[in-house]
Amino acid sequence: MKTFFMTSYLLVLALEMGLRCLDQRHRQRHRGEVPPGFEGAVSAETLERAGDYALARKRLEWVESVVAETLVLLFLFTPLFPAYDRLAAASSGSPLWGGVLFFLGLSGLRWLLDAPFSWYRTFRIEERFGFNRTTFRLWLSDQLKSLLLAAILIALLAAGSLWLVAATTHWWLWVWGLWMGISLFLMVLSPYLIEPLFFKFQPLADGELAERVRDLMARAGLRAGQVLQVDASRRSGHSNAYFTGIGKVKRIVLFDTLLAQMNPEEIEAVLAHEIGHWRLRHILQRLLFSALVSLAGFHLACGLMAWGGIPSWVGAPALSPAAQLLVLAVAGRLAGFFMTPLGAAWSRRHEAQADDFAVNLTAHPRALAAALVKLAGENLANLFPHPLYAWFYYSHPPVAERVTRLNALQPSPCGYGGGGGDNIDIPLM
Ligand SMILES: [Zn+2]
Repeated sequence: MKTFFMTSYLLVLALEMGLRCLDQRHRQRHRGEVPPGFEGAVSAETLERAGDYALARKRLEWVESVVAETLVLLFLFTPLFPAYDRLAAASSGSPLWGGVLFFLGLSGLRWLLDAPFSWYRTFRIEERFGFNRTTFRLWLSDQLKSLLLAAILIALLAAGSLWLVAATTHWWLWVWGLWMGISLFLMVLSPYLIEPLFFKFQPLADGELAERVRDLMARAGLRAGQVLQVDASRRSGHSNAYFTGIGKVKRIVLFDTLLAQMNPEEIEAVLAHEIGHWRLRHILQRLLFSALVSLAGFHLACGLMAWGGIPSWVGAPALSPAAQLLVLAVAGRLAGFFMTPLGAAWSRRHEAQADDFAVNLTAHPRALAAALVKLAGENLANLFPHPLYAWFYYSHPPVAERVTRLNALQPSPCGYGGGGGDNIDIPLM
């Protein structure tokens, strides 16, 4: 069983690396080319810089994943893992706190491994390409805040889950309820409790723009919800916009960097796209889907733990419930890898629907296309992802396809459009 588990791990790793290689070669082949719809909008110099930027980021990703995956393999499939499990159990008085310590220790180690890469990415790569605006002090405080928040969340989830595993028979249902409860709680409260720890949100400063936004929202039939700007420029020159929240706490957030780069028509188009996600209930659909998948996952985990064979997957004689849950999480990640294209296709479908919605709402397809061209240029996005890579991973249709599709669209006065092409990224909007 250990051989099978280890082989599956290595297979997924090889497939991930293979896809990346493919994408990198494709990118190199098309280096300097101008995709249709971008003529005159991106200069040869921008394309050159975008190529160098992608290469620098990809190189770092390679080093990072080789280091991280080697360490995970050495830890999980050797006697280190059961030894760490016994150490966590022995350093605390009870199995429950031993389990909490087990997860906290691992996340601390993960943070120690990630921090140098984050530093290099921010102060070497982003700096070199003119995106970095953060100082070492701000970066460090962000890192420490995130570490503390993660530790609180992990301790809560681990203590609650492990207690339920020990105290109830149908624990999968209770643990699922706990996870769902905490994620909903975070979704509702994060804009008030967590996000302000990092960013400053405020209503749109430009009065004329705020007026246009109100008008646009009225046309889309939206009354509740806020449109805010965030001081993203304190940390980075990258620009974007996003939609978040459910129920009464829905909001659209525009980066101040985006507001500085675009004209009012383009901002309106970006907003209309975000309003599309909102009106078409995309967040709700994803939430319900992930609730169902996690329910099935916890049910399976409960059955597997009762069966008792999990320690053999990593060649250990025995493991604590916490360590068994970790092995199951790794197995879940491997299975999830093969599901990636499904989730990505679904997300791309949502993006195309939001694009259609924006076109019909603003009756101006060229404005969204122009906004995307600008975003892609300003952010030095990859304009030529390998089709297989994009199909497998991309949450947004490749930006060049999106622009071509938008430029061919005619606004229709009836309805907000539906389906649309599935085939039309940069993680923009
Ligand atoms: Zn979107």
